[in-house]
Amino acid sequence: MRAERIEPVRRILCVFPRYTSSFGTFEHAYPLTDGVQAFMPPQGLLLIAAYLPANWPVRFIDENISPATKDDFEWAEAVFVSGMHIQRPQMNEICQRAHAFDLAVAIGGPSVSACPDDYPSFDYLHVGELGDATDELIARLSRDPSRPDAQVVLTTNERLPMTDFPVPAYELAEIRKYFLGSIQYSSGCPYQCEFCDIPGLYGRNPRIKSPQQIIAELDKLRECGVTGSVYFVDDNFIGNRKAALDLLPHLIAWQKRTGYVMRLACEATLNIAKRPEILEKMREAYFITIFCGIETPDPDALRAMQKDHNMMVPILEGIRTINSYGMEVVSGIIMGLDTDTPETGDALLTFVEESRIPLLTINLLQALPKTPLWDRLEREKRLVHDDSRDSNVEFLLPYDDVVEAWRKCMALAYRPEKLFARYAYQCEYTYANRLKVPISPEMKSWANIKRALIMLRNIFWKVGVLGDYRRAFWKFALPRLRHGDIEGLIASALVGHHLIVFARDASRGHQNASNYSIRLREASVPAE
Ligand code: SF4
Repeated sequence: MRAERIEPVRRILCVFPRYTSSFGTFEHAYPLTDGVQAFMPPQGLLLIAAYLPANWPVRFIDENISPATKDDFEWAEAVFVSGMHIQRPQMNEICQRAHAFDLAVAIGGPSVSACPDDYPSFDYLHVGELGDATDELIARLSRDPSRPDAQVVLTTNERLPMTDFPVPAYELAEIRKYFLGSIQYSSGCPYQCEFCDIPGLYGRNPRIKSPQQIIAELDKLRECGVTGSVYFVDDNFIGNRKAALDLLPHLIAWQKRTGYVMRLACEATLNIAKRPEILEKMREAYFITIFCGIETPDPDALRAMQKDHNMMVPILEGIRTINSYGMEVVSGIIMGLDTDTPETGDALLTFVEESRIPLLTINLLQALPKTPLWDRLEREKRLVHDDSRDSNVEFLLPYDDVVEAWRKCMALAYRPEKLFARYAYQCEYTYANRLKVPISPEMKSWANIKRALIMLRNIFWKVGVLGDYRRAFWKFALPRLRHGDIEGLIASALVGHHLIVFARDASRGHQNASNYSIRLREASVPAE
């Protein structure tokens, strides 16, 4: 449990590193909004901030919004950093800056938990989830905040039960500057897909928060000003189906009570399509998007990666079922699998057409530590440690052919006319199935209307007038305007613009072919 008071008091600066250009963070959409500057509030660091003793002052800086300043470092007695593998250069750079002020720096989160050896310059490594290692770190800093003589590695052996997690310190973040709100309900996944590090890092028996905790978090997000979409960052929302069914009535009641101010999104396995009782309740709770790791339409490939559960219903049928409950499917796709052939790219493009999924994150296979894939490729001597490549996997097909196939898929899948045709389909066959929610006073407020007007102005001017794909845009937008579907128009135009711009960069070789690769990412470390 969080300590109320620990003396002496220490001032803690929590710094979240910058992301660099990424398909999944939608940064090309930000200039069309009313001031969004970052993707989602970082759950891990805000959780730690809330867990620190109540009498310790905490500053939180997300460097995606603004860099930590000299004043921040001079104020602090210790610095906490957290992030994912792709933020490694930025995390190391924050450490350097903090050391220039002779501050002790602790790093936690998924990257250091999987690869502690990648962070030799940090003073404290926090390996694993919130738990006894966190208590030990707090105790050590309280005793002595100065830099230890040698690196100290603290590993969580006893995790804090999720039911004891405090509400993340959303109040410390500039929450209105995020594209999406975020919330965590569970941790862990019962499956064991070969490439995935979730079971290795967080276990196969999902741990969950109580419905009351989730409602308290939603209330706090609302108090902090979130009115748009909120993403459940859990790796698999139905990892524990019974718990999901227990939670949903609480979400439905909360939405009714608060006037459906939030649209909900989550990640789940595609076999959710076999659970109409869950899908119906999700519709009532106003879930509008599910990210499904479809990975590949090739059944042999799914079997090879131990993702047979994706085949519990035919994939296209599963997508249609989810759409019939008003939820758009977003799909993860992997290229460079051992089962790929020279025809894989074309098969994937056919799948994109048939599935009508607008947003697919198409990545090259990357082996992550603590995965069965990593172990197998290590045995087969097929791990390549070369940051200049787009993947650390020695593919069975020639590397250049795989990267070229990826670029071609990105270019063709995100041609504006193709993308907007898929969005038009979604408007008619998915969004039309959503719950018809009452217009709440918050939605009718001048602040909300002003926000929508700013976004519409930006979209019409920057895309509809100045944009080079304006013809495809207006073909999609005019019917939306005729139907009065302003919300659908704004959401599709924002995300669509990001996808089109990113895919163009990608097809020219200006973007990474893997969300995990750090190629091209070094240059974006902010200079202070
Ligand atoms: S279902 Fe998803 S979260 Fe679970 S192991 Fe597979 S890829 Fe990972």
